[in-house]
Amino acid sequence: MLNNTHLQKTGKRLSNRQLIVGLGLALFLLVGGLMLVAPAEAQTTSSGLTTADVDSLLYMREEEKLAHDVYVTLYELWGAPLFSNIANSEQNHTEMVLALLYQYGLEDPAVGNGVGVFANPDLQALYDDLVSQGSQSYEAALLVGGLIEEVDIADLQAELSITNVAAVQQVYQSLLNASSNHLNAFANAYENATGNAYTAQWLGDADVVAILNGGHASGNRNGGSQGNNGQGRGNGGRRS
Ligand code: MN
Ligand code: MN
Repeated sequence: MLNNTHLQKTGKRLSNRQLIVGLGLALFLLVGGLMLVAPAEAQTTSSGLTTADVDSLLYMREEEKLAHDVYVTLYELWGAPLFSNIANSEQNHTEMVLALLYQYGLEDPAVGNGVGVFANPDLQALYDDLVSQGSQSYEAALLVGGLIEEVDIADLQAELSITNVAAVQQVYQSLLNASSNHLNAFANAYENATGNAYTAQWLGDADVVAILNGGHASGNRNGGSQGNNGQGRGNGGRRS
């Protein structure tokens, strides 16, 4: 009897303590859970992509369109089949990115926009600038082609390094390989037209030399590339 009462009291005391411990644990988990969920919600979207993935896809849709639109325009100016051939390839690229936008339920920033029209104001300004440069001469147009491919390579390498989505990686790797081929084509045409070697305009010198020597641009940024951080353009001073 005494034992039973004692056990009941002990039991009651234990269950009170368990209740307090349980509530404390629940509160701890709730706060911890909120701390974990809050930043995750800021970075992912309803599509399951990170906001960086979404920004990247929207940008690449228009960056590939920019390449297409510039080459179509330069083909009309200079009539070299190189521009129309590569423009066809860029049309495929922008449609590959569009397919990803559809797959993830994202709105197409280029919907209804014809050649030379862009939703992104930076790409609009870049398009206008590149067409202006490429209108100077056939040789200048070839350099514009080389610059577009170098910027594309730098951007794709940067995007590949931040995405973990296999479908996006697959498309970007394919676009990256094509950009290496296009850079080779423009560099060769430039050298044939001018007798001068093509030199890097945006990527690091060593990266461009490696690509022109038959290697594809690597999806892994190995530190050799200066990318689009602004240093690339500064290279012009030490080449001549
Ligand atoms: Mn492309
Ligand atoms: Mn290209």
